[in-house]
Amino acid sequence: MDCLFCAIIAGDVPSRQIYADEHAIAFLDIAPLHWGHTLVVPRQHVTDILAEGTTLSDIAPAVHNVSRLLVDRLEAGGVNVLINNGALAGQEVFHLHVHLVPRYPEFPGMRALFQPDPEAGAELDALHAILTGEA
Ligand code: AMP
Ligand code: ZN
Repeated sequence: MDCLFCAIIAGDVPSRQIYADEHAIAFLDIAPLHWGHTLVVPRQHVTDILAEGTTLSDIAPAVHNVSRLLVDRLEAGGVNVLINNGALAGQEVFHLHVHLVPRYPEFPGMRALFQPDPEAGAELDALHAILTGEA
């Protein structure tokens, strides 16, 4: 099976990983909507929450822990938690993933979630260092 996120989990494709537990890993989104946009991905391949065998509860601790990490380390004022299921809903990578998007006062509200901060993709290595405690 040709799956980008399985390849990232296997370490065959590089990512800026910031978290791992038994069921999930989290890494920085390569094209962030806002500063700190992160994807939580189950280790087990499943296409989306509509697929057989999806157990969202397995990745709930990762979603919670990474949300806390992002808000604390980046001093965000909030975080959006989003899953796109199916191409019509905007899914482009067909391995379940939860978008965690930290939010800041400069771009408030739900509609501004999809108006990317033009600065959000800069300095991803520095951001990675902040989130992994290497800064
Ligand atoms: P979706 O549209 O919900 O399938 O989201 C896929 C997300 O994966 C998008 O936000 C992309 O920017 C992100 N993405 C694609 N390729 C990579 C990659 N190699 N590393 C990190 N994020 C990626
Ligand atoms: Zn996969």
